[in-house]
Amino acid sequence: MPSIFTKIINREISSDIVYEDDLVIAFKDIDPKAPVHILIVPKKEIPTINDATPEDEAALGRLFTVAAKIAEENGIAEDGYRVMVNTNKYGGQEVYHIHMHLLGGRPLGPMLV
Ligand code: IMP
Repeated sequence: MPSIFTKIINREISSDIVYEDDLVIAFKDIDPKAPVHILIVPKKEIPTINDATPEDEAALGRLFTVAAKIAEENGIAEDGYRVMVNTNKYGGQEVYHIHMHLLGGRPLGPMLV
């Protein structure tokens, strides 16, 4: 079964896409936890970071540079923001297709739990 994010990549499910290139896609989280909450996702369906291999390094590195670009475009780069990747049950992962959360637009406190 393709992940829900693969379905978004394939336009089988609609989403508010803010960025796309050959390796990654970014779209607004459907249930935002901050004024800016965007998910940045490798197009390759890698379930968790435990499953990443050296051949995935280009796509996973791209997540960071795209996060910085989107933060700048949304005016949150200077005040600051948080990026995070939840992993497996204790990490609170719900969708098993690696994704980076980009959160900002308000003070986030020391940690989101
Ligand atoms: P996780 O807990 O790190 O796996 O986060 C999954 C995120 O995906 C949650 O913040 C959800 O709100 C978000 N999400 C789930 N389905 C969709 C969707 O169809 N579009 C956009 N975001 C989604």
